[in-house]
Amino acid sequence: MHSGKNRSEPKSWNGKPYNFFGDYLYERFGVRILKLSLDAHLNCPNRDGTLDSEGCIFCAPDGSASPAINPKSDITTQMTTARNAFRRGNVPTRYIAYFQAFTNTYAPVEKLKELYDTALSFPDIAGLMIGTRPDCLPEKVLDLIASYNNEGLELWLEIGMQTMHTRSLQFLNRHHTHAQTIDAITRAASRNINICLHLILGIPGESWEDMMKTAQEVSTLPVRGVKLHHLHVIRGTKLEALYLENSIALMTFTDYVSTACDFLERLRGDILIHRLSGDRGRETLIAPAWGLHKGTVIKAIEDEFARRGTHQGFLRM
Ligand code: SF4
Repeated sequence: MHSGKNRSEPKSWNGKPYNFFGDYLYERFGVRILKLSLDAHLNCPNRDGTLDSEGCIFCAPDGSASPAINPKSDITTQMTTARNAFRRGNVPTRYIAYFQAFTNTYAPVEKLKELYDTALSFPDIAGLMIGTRPDCLPEKVLDLIASYNNEGLELWLEIGMQTMHTRSLQFLNRHHTHAQTIDAITRAASRNINICLHLILGIPGESWEDMMKTAQEVSTLPVRGVKLHHLHVIRGTKLEALYLENSIALMTFTDYVSTACDFLERLRGDILIHRLSGDRGRETLIAPAWGLHKGTVIKAIEDEFARRGTHQGFLRM
């Protein structure tokens, strides 16, 4: 309910009630920008026995990769295949190389440099995006990532924060603390690296107030982007077993739409929204089924903002 006075004029970003990353990219480059999801065949300390061998409870055996990736091929082949698949006649297109699967800073610096350099050697590359855990960002790796910072390139570090709450991090079997997330963000931001936080709504045991606290916390941090999605159950995960035992309840469509709007209303307006919904296909998604309809989720969030007359950052003004 929004019973208080309207604190600001309705605001929009290119007609949207939130600051959408895709629009920001189009404004910056003036052409279609596509993300090429990559699997660099790296591991993860939460899977290789260093911290645990089972991984996060929501992480699929493919390390949360995009289903479009052929994980057996090398970076050059993945880049070539994806660029060919996305080509649409003469439509001008540039690409972001997105190291997505597993933990993409979990290797010696020399190896990481070779991987990133290979991706950046392709023509029409507009950006580099590196997904990782907060506890896998030693100084040398951050220095390497910062070395790609130049005005022509969109450079992003995607850090899996998920939530600020300790009991939720434990439930997810993350094996890192929120303090480690803050530390990683602080050290990356001091090198002018753009940070995008991966966040999950609907973690069992989290109240609405807990999720709003996470939104408020994110707004105090030197980050430029967030990826928001509901907790979904992927085939082959520990979460699947819990779900099939009826041990957990997932968010309903209506709850997610409403909570995502509540979350965004508390988020700084300059934070770019990279994603507002989970992205899994029928082959791997167990539940909730509404997660298959990403466009419907996004439309419902936009409609809910219109109904409320609010927007991202509305409750921060
Ligand atoms: S840290 Fe990432 S790759 Fe590792 S188990 Fe968790 S979600 Fe999977």
